[in-house]
Amino acid sequence: MTEYGPRPVDRRLPTEEARDLLTLVRELVEREIRPTAAEQEEAGRFPRETFALLSESGLLSLPYDEEFGGGGQPYEVYLQVLEELAAARLTVGLGVSVHTLACHALAGFGTKEQRAEHLPDMLGGGLLGAYCLSEPAAGSDAASLTTRATRGGGGGEAGSGGHWTLNGTKAWTTHGGVADFYTVLARTGGSGAHGITAFLVPGDAEGLSAAVPERKMGMKGSPTAQLHFDNVRIPDARRIGDEGQGFTIALSALDSGRLGIAACAVGVAQAALDEALAYTAERRQFGRPIADFQGLRFMLADMATQIEAGRALYLGAARLRDAGLPFSKEAAMSKLFCTDAAMRVTTDAVQLLGGYGYTMDFPAERYMREAKVLQIVEGTNQIQRMVIARHLAGPETR
Ligand SMILES: Cc1cc2nc3c(=O)[nH]c(=O)nc-3n(C[C@H](O)[C@H](O)[C@H](O)COP(=O)(O)OP(=O)(O)OC[C@H]3O[C@@H](n4cnc5c(N)ncnc54)[C@H](O)[C@@H]3O)c2cc1C
Repeated sequence: MTEYGPRPVDRRLPTEEARDLLTLVRELVEREIRPTAAEQEEAGRFPRETFALLSESGLLSLPYDEEFGGGGQPYEVYLQVLEELAAARLTVGLGVSVHTLACHALAGFGTKEQRAEHLPDMLGGGLLGAYCLSEPAAGSDAASLTTRATRGGGGGEAGSGGHWTLNGTKAWTTHGGVADFYTVLARTGGSGAHGITAFLVPGDAEGLSAAVPERKMGMKGSPTAQLHFDNVRIPDARRIGDEGQGFTIALSALDSGRLGIAACAVGVAQAALDEALAYTAERRQFGRPIADFQGLRFMLADMATQIEAGRALYLGAARLRDAGLPFSKEAAMSKLFCTDAAMRVTTDAVQLLGGYGYTMDFPAERYMREAKVLQIVEGTNQIQRMVIARHLAGPETR
C-alpha cells in the first residue's frame, strides 16, 4: 500500500482558521485513521475510539452554532474536512456525516430549551448519533413509513407533558446498535408525508433493540442494522418540531446530508486517484513506467477532471447554503454527480493497478466497494434525478 504523508493544503479557503483546521485534520488522519483503515475494515471493526477522538477535537460539531458547543464553521469548510476523513476511511467520513445529519433535526427545529439541554452533549460530549428514516418496506418511498408513535400508551403514568409510545422497525440504520441517540421519524397521524413526526430517542431506551448488523459489500467497519421499537416510551419533551412536521424536517436534513455524501465521494475518488498515480509511476512494463503510456495518462487525466468537477459542484452548493440561499437542487446534483464520478474513478483505479488492483494488498478494491454504497444512501441516484427534475419541470402530473 502506498504511504502518504500529510499533504499541504492547496485549496482556496475562506479563512486562515479554516486552513489551520484542514492542516490539523490531515495530520490527525495520517496519525490516527489511515494506518489502521485497511486492517480494521477487513476485520469489520467499528472505530468507536476514533469517534471519541473526533468529538474531543471538535470535529463532530463543525457546522453547528458555537452557542451550543458547535464549531461555527461554514459548510464549505466542514465538507472539505469530511472529504479528508472519507479519503482515509469511509466508515469515519460517512459516520461523521450521519452524526451531523442526526443532530440536524434538533439543531434546526428544536426549541431553545431542547437545544440547551441536549445539543452540547450531542455536539461535543462524546455522543454518537444515528438517523432513522428507512424501513424494510419504505426505502425510496420514505413517506410510506409505518413505525408508529402513539400518544400515551405502553402503560405507566404520562407525567408532565405526557409521553409517546413507539412501535415498529427501522432498517439500514448506520450506527444501529452503537449510537447514543437516534433521530427517529415515526407516524403519528394519517398516511403520507403529513402524518410523520420526529423524535430524539436515547440509545438505551427500554424496548429498543438492534438486530445483527447487515453483512455488507464494503464499509464493513460501520454497523448498519435494523432497529426494533417495542413499546418504547419517549417523553413529549423529546418530540422535535410540531406533530406532522417530521417529513419536512427529514427532507431538510437530507438536503444537507447529501452534500456530506458528495464530499465523502470526492474523498474516496481522490484517494483512488492518489493510489493510481503512485502505482503507475512505479510499475514498469515494456521497459518504462506504465504512467508513460498515453492510454493510461488519459485515464488519469479524466479521473482528476471528474474529481475537480465534483469538488467544484459540491463547494458551489455549500456556498449557496452558507449564504442562506436555496440549495436543494444543487445538493441533489452534487450527490448524483460526485457519487457517480467516484464509482467511475475507483473502477478505473482498480484497472490501472492491473491484477494487484483486484487484491486486498492494495486499497483500490476497497475504494471501489466503498464508492458503490454512496450511489445508494440518502436517496439513490435515481431519486436524485427525480428531485432535480422536479426543480426543473415541476412535480409529475401523477
Ligand atoms: C450502508 C447503508 C447505510 C444506510 N444508512 C441509513 C441510515 O443511516 N438511515 C436511513 O434512514 N437509511 C439508511 N440507508 C438506507 C438507504 O437510504 C436506502 O437503502 C435507500 O434510500 C434506498 O431504499 P431501498 O434500499 O429500500 O431501495 P428501494 O427504494 O427499494 O429501491 C430499489 C431500486 O429501485 C429504484 N427506485 C425506487 N423508486 C424509484 C422511482 N420512483 N423511480 C426510479 N427508480 C426508483 C431505486 O433507485 C433502486 O435502484 C442506508 C443504506 C445502506 C445500504
